[in-house]
Amino acid sequence: ARHLLSGRPGTAAIILVRGDITEQWVDAIVNAANSSLLGGGGVDGAIHRAGGPEILDACRALRASHYGKGLRTGQAVATTGGRLHARSVIHTVGPVWSATEDRSALLASCYRESLRVADQLDANTVAFPAISTGIYGWPLDDGARIAIDTVRNTETAVREARFVLFDDRAYESFAAALRAGE
Ligand code: ADP
Repeated sequence: ARHLLSGRPGTAAIILVRGDITEQWVDAIVNAANSSLLGGGGVDGAIHRAGGPEILDACRALRASHYGKGLRTGQAVATTGGRLHARSVIHTVGPVWSATEDRSALLASCYRESLRVADQLDANTVAFPAISTGIYGWPLDDGARIAIDTVRNTETAVREARFVLFDDRAYESFAAALRAGE
């Protein structure tokens, strides 16, 4: 099943697919990176494995040139896509879930900043994972709501924002968030 929401003028159409983000034929894929930019587990590890060493080399160069202390939470930066079908990878650092502090604005910032970088790259199609909902522990339904609300309300020239959900549970959370906004 696929769910689709056509974007209002100036925003991206949203498409949900179940699958592996590393296999997507899009202009750019978004990586749920960590601030070191030097790789990690989850979707980050999968992207570096599939894309090959060129991505890590580009990340190391970014660390050396602009991000000595790492990329801040909620920010985004692009590298080559290496061997991926995607021309570029947009690395963004999601917030770790906190039960005591509301970090929603930082999670929203990841989606907004990724679209801003995608615009700089002239990307028409961008694939997103469910940022922060894995190792970083964000509850799926809430992470999905923030993702959908933010992309729906962000002005961009990107035509298609494709959420690539790794399992049924993530897919269902995003489908529910999409229905809630209709
Ligand atoms: P974070 O540290 O931001 O939580 P994770 O990589 O642990 O990042 O998880 C983010 C989401 O990405 C989770 O929902 C996880 O199931 C999903 N995920 C893991 N591997 C892939 C993949 N290859 N394609 C798409 N999504 C993936």
